[in-house]
Amino acid sequence: MATVKCIGILTSGGDAPGMNAAVRAVTRAAIYKGLTVKGIYRGYRGLVYDEIEEFKSQNVSNIIQLGGTILKTARCAEFMTPEGRKTAYDTMQKHGIDALVIIGGDGSLTGARIFAQEFDVPCIGLPGTIDNDLYGTDTTIGYDTALNTILDAVDKIRDTATSHDRLFFVEVMGRDAGFLALNGAIASGAEAAIIPEFSTEVDQLEEFIKNGFRKSKNSSIVIVAESELTGGAMHYAERVKKEYPQYDVRVTILGHLQRGGSPTAHDRILASRLGAAAIDAIMEDQRNVMMGIVHDEIVYVPFSKAIKNDKPIKRELVNVLRELSI
Ligand code: ADP
Repeated sequence: MATVKCIGILTSGGDAPGMNAAVRAVTRAAIYKGLTVKGIYRGYRGLVYDEIEEFKSQNVSNIIQLGGTILKTARCAEFMTPEGRKTAYDTMQKHGIDALVIIGGDGSLTGARIFAQEFDVPCIGLPGTIDNDLYGTDTTIGYDTALNTILDAVDKIRDTATSHDRLFFVEVMGRDAGFLALNGAIASGAEAAIIPEFSTEVDQLEEFIKNGFRKSKNSSIVIVAESELTGGAMHYAERVKKEYPQYDVRVTILGHLQRGGSPTAHDRILASRLGAAAIDAIMEDQRNVMMGIVHDEIVYVPFSKAIKNDKPIKRELVNVLRELSI
């Protein structure tokens, strides 16, 4: 028998489309199973500063289609300290919260892992990040929506790139992961992607120029993952200006528009399944696991695995991009 009677739910770190669908799913599944739900505002900050209210089914009505997060999100420096986490624990006790569901990325789950160890609190994580950089799940909540946003933007940039015979470097998010850049490039028909995973292996710009820029086309789009490892789009534009001054180069940094917008069907379904599964996990007395979906099946991934392991990029994707961009 599960001992948990009341759960707290929070969204933390970078926001991602589909977080609201996850909040809705966790809240409704918990109420369905007879649990009380407390909404915690602004991530761990809401625990430290006591910004909490009880959530009924109506609190999550009409939000499945909304980007952002109705619970708000924040980065909370206090939670990085033992004193801050003790205050957070005391707030939990005050509200009678005996388990937490955390929707967030790598950092948020790291915080959950430390908190769970220190205070023996059951914590369940949901992978909420556009970067898709959490190990143990095929995709993360928000990734598919961000990918589609990138496609919309690149399709438009293609029009002007073609008209002017220009070389565009389009910078996308992803922190130190190249999933958005690589799959964004494949799906938009871009000529190349420059991703952090291969930054130490080859000179990706050199490869791109060598492998056929201008062999069959007068314009090109290269998607660059924002990362200190790649140097970002500006870095490559500067290099081209110096090393290949014959090319007409432009840069577009997509920035925060990639975080917004109504979640795609994929992200809504993912968030709904993972949210419901998180409550199943709590009822089964699971703790300190991230919920994931692998090969269309729900999986429980221990925090230690989800956080510590780098999620590998498939070489096959790189080959597909190269072969199809001739
Ligand atoms: P994301 O979850 O999107 O990766 P961050 O890395 O900014 O975002 O982390 C979000 C929040 O998680 C931080 O502001 C902090 O409150 C908490 N957090 C991150 N790392 C730790 C840590 N090592 N110890 C305690 N809390 C952490």
